[in-house]
Amino acid sequence: MSTTDVVIIGAGPNGLSISAHLGRMGIEHRVFGRTMETWRANMPVGMMLKSEPYASDLSAPEAGFGAGDYCATTHQEYHERLTPLSRERFISYGDWFADQLVPNVEDVRVHSLSTTSEGFRIETSDDECVTARRVVVATGIIPFAYLPSVFKDAPPELVSHTSWHSDLSRFSGKEVVVVGGGQSALESAALLREQGASVKVVLRGEKVFWNTPNPATVSLTQNIRRPVARLCEGWPCWAFDHLPDVFTLMPKSWRVEHGLGFLGPSGSWWLRERVESHIPIWARHKVLDASTNGDRVLLQLDGPDGRLAVEADHVVAGTGFRLDLARLGFLEDSLVSQLDPVAGAPKLTRHLESKVSGLFFTGAPAAPSLGPLMRFVAGTHFTGPRVSRRIRSSLRGVGLRSKSRRSMVEERSNVA
Ligand SMILES: Cc1cc2nc3c(=O)[nH]c(=O)nc-3n(C[C@H](O)[C@H](O)[C@H](O)COP(=O)(O)OP(=O)(O)OC[C@H]3O[C@@H](n4cnc5c(N)ncnc54)[C@H](O)[C@@H]3O)c2cc1C
Repeated sequence: MSTTDVVIIGAGPNGLSISAHLGRMGIEHRVFGRTMETWRANMPVGMMLKSEPYASDLSAPEAGFGAGDYCATTHQEYHERLTPLSRERFISYGDWFADQLVPNVEDVRVHSLSTTSEGFRIETSDDECVTARRVVVATGIIPFAYLPSVFKDAPPELVSHTSWHSDLSRFSGKEVVVVGGGQSALESAALLREQGASVKVVLRGEKVFWNTPNPATVSLTQNIRRPVARLCEGWPCWAFDHLPDVFTLMPKSWRVEHGLGFLGPSGSWWLRERVESHIPIWARHKVLDASTNGDRVLLQLDGPDGRLAVEADHVVAGTGFRLDLARLGFLEDSLVSQLDPVAGAPKLTRHLESKVSGLFFTGAPAAPSLGPLMRFVAGTHFTGPRVSRRIRSSLRGVGLRSKSRRSMVEERSNVA
């Protein structure tokens, strides 16, 4: 069994950012996961980021590692505002960031996490057992993909969640119903149509909400009226962006509502024409039932004109995510109950530390404690420095096994 100071589970934007900060502090740590895997495996080719480019930088301990720096280094065009980054460019940016700042990512899955007298015991898909004094869970939102119960008996060949696809071209020539009115549903619908599928969108809400574009440039007066924050633009965005510490002091029900609900389902302005001009949108329709009809799926809908049946080759459900710690799959049961879950997420301190001392959570599960910023790449600018500083100060008390980043990488390649 090997021992380390810190294990980070997950190598997405949060895991990479925290590792970059710990590396700079010389804190020995290991990172388990595949670099930017969510963006490769759970988002479709052709997708664009909804966040503005200026809000899509990973947090690094020094300047020079933003998406704009990556584009400048690789001679690619980059605009801070109004020109969305593609999924492909964002993945390459994440890889570039990792190559320079987090070269010690180990491509293994964590199968179990339990507590020991020393701290934590982690078992990986390589059958390795590691003990760590601190653990950061940076496993993102995908484990919480939510399919409504109406689809629970439908086979995956007929009904799937948006996050199960990285390539929608396999639906070319098929009839597909997309359920949902948020960005994932609307962008999947646009990509499906552009890749040769016949698509309709069904949503429960009154209508699709479309965002309006931000101004192309921001004058001082505009910035006072509608300040630019990483999370989004406007005073509520500024408050959620700058004051996660204050957010922790608010009543629980308010935190859950705003942490998970702020910036709710809507489509990006640049997607609107690709959807509205080409794809039928059935608002105010609820799916009552989904059944198999040969190799097709039959949906029973309830809409403003009563009930109707719709048949399709496939249903793609853009039905979002519901936090539920048990669904992470690697936390031992007793650990889950100690985490004192709120809305399926652990209760966290302002250092993102859970009720189990030394166990930290980032990303979407941190949103009910620290606010909506945590759900986005922009949140890495809070979590990266905050978690790493807390880990450094807490390890000082028990004796820090400091190592340079170079020695960590050399050690790992010797093991390999
Ligand atoms: C369709 C979609 C579009 C989005 N668009 C945007 C956007 O435009 N802008 C924005 O700011 N945010 C966007 N988000 C939110 C986005 O997921 C986060 O901002 C960002 O990816 C969060 O980073 P993360 O590191 O917390 O999680 P992730 O990027 O999800 O990374 C988590 C990592 O943990 C790994 N992992 C999980 N379980 C294990 C395990 N047991 N062992 C090892 N590794 C594990 C995963 O493989 C993954 O690589 C989007 C989300 C979705 C679903």
